[in-house]
Amino acid sequence: MNTIPHWINGSPAEGSTTATQPVHNPATGAERARVVLGGGADVDAAVRAASAAFATWSESSLTTRTQVMFAFRQLLVEHEEELGRIISGEHGKTVDDARGEIVRGREVVEFACGLGDVLKGDFSDQVSRGVDVHSFRQPLGVVAGITPFNFPAMVPLWMHPIALATGNTFILKPSERDPSAANFVAGLYRKAGLPDGVFNVVHGGKDAVDAILDHPGIEAVSFVGSTPIARYVHERATAAGKRVQALGGAKNHAVVLPDADLEFAANHITAGAYGSAGERCMALSVAVAVGEAADGLVEVLRRKAREVKVGPGDAPGTEMGPLVTRAAQERVENAVGTAAAQGATVVVDGRGLKVAGHEDGFFTGPSLLDHVTTEMEAYRQELFGPVLAVVRVDTLDAAIDVINANPYGNGTAVFTASGEAARRFQRSVKVGMIGVNVPVPVPMSYYSFGGWKDSLIGDSPVHGPEGIRFYTRPKVVTSRWPRQNHHVAAGFDFPTSD
Ligand code: NAD
Repeated sequence: MNTIPHWINGSPAEGSTTATQPVHNPATGAERARVVLGGGADVDAAVRAASAAFATWSESSLTTRTQVMFAFRQLLVEHEEELGRIISGEHGKTVDDARGEIVRGREVVEFACGLGDVLKGDFSDQVSRGVDVHSFRQPLGVVAGITPFNFPAMVPLWMHPIALATGNTFILKPSERDPSAANFVAGLYRKAGLPDGVFNVVHGGKDAVDAILDHPGIEAVSFVGSTPIARYVHERATAAGKRVQALGGAKNHAVVLPDADLEFAANHITAGAYGSAGERCMALSVAVAVGEAADGLVEVLRRKAREVKVGPGDAPGTEMGPLVTRAAQERVENAVGTAAAQGATVVVDGRGLKVAGHEDGFFTGPSLLDHVTTEMEAYRQELFGPVLAVVRVDTLDAAIDVINANPYGNGTAVFTASGEAARRFQRSVKVGMIGVNVPVPVPMSYYSFGGWKDSLIGDSPVHGPEGIRFYTRPKVVTSRWPRQNHHVAAGFDFPTSD
């Protein structure tokens, strides 16, 4: 059985513990490897390697760092299919969907390739006679990223390209459910010419996370995952004096107004709800049908949910793969049962789906629930599976009220032909990322990604300008170069300009 090791100081490392955990192929249910579960000693080894590397990496030129990023970007292009298959084999999503996450993650590398422009400081000439002011930013030191299972390549890519290009060194603690992508990426960085110790991977669960949160040699922690863990990470790491960005869970609503093209809206909502088996933080899990849109919308959604092709992620034509674990499959299927018991109409029931030849896989089919209310569990919980709940309301304002009363505020979308309605919607919803006739509005890498309310703990979204701010500290320099022998009198009063 293959054991997936850590990656420390430029090479695979077995680590200090003998503890391992199985990694499954969700399409077959079979164990395909085991991953080492690191602890304090492994995190400490990674911090020592990253601290030593920081001394030279942070002094390397911006040109050198961006050239590594250009080379890394090219390797991501060349190895997209291979990495996509690794992700699909451990996560379950289709290979094409995995390639999509690599492309979206690569966009952050492309942003990092252009840091020479973005990192430019400010300069103010002659703020006082003979005095100029300029500002620049410097890296923090060793920084860490703790990431979820659902985007094993893209979510870490939201972090490390910017952290590295700005001169930091990085420790990644990926999800223990699909850990191989992290080591593959580490190998690509090495091929791209990144010096040893600049990018490290420590595998594990809570022990490894706690060691990162407490380690005095780590300056900042980026976290993406569920809200309770995001809150925990934020509290513990800020108490240890670190900078923290902590992105949490989601419940994303798609509002459909009566003037929308129902076929178009239902097509996009179906893809947004069932793509990646609903295991996306930007998945659409609630359709809010306004007024007379409801009956027609549910009819088209029913037809489309039934047409979704469910199968192994590496089979041609598959649109939706299995869930990541048996536990996730059971949780989602139980939630559909609870919804029915609480009065929702199960329009399409995905429970008990068997895929021929893959009977032990963690499959469940798309489920569509109608007449869901905001009190029901199916609405209140983040199910993180292929379940779309339809909530019916009378007006756009009522739809906005539903969204704003929800504790999450990651993404949302409105489907309409009215510019006025779309504008009112985007100005009123308490949500960080909004789509207008766009179902999964993940911002481009040169904008920042992050939700509101319980979808983001603290105040720092990831990548784009916020990513640069997060991984660097500003300095402001006030300077005077007096002419030789032209002395200016030094006053004892607090200095003001003249
Ligand atoms: P998770 O919170 O279970 O795990 C995330 C990370 O935290 C993993 O690396 C895991 O090892 C670690 N972890 C888990 N339990 C821990 C504990 N008790 N103590 C310390 N560390 C712990 O999340 P997941 O199931 O891997 O991913 C799905 C969740 O992530 C969903 O809630 C989804 O909405 C969220 N997510 C959010 C975004 C976003 O941008 N807001 C993006 C992707 C995923």
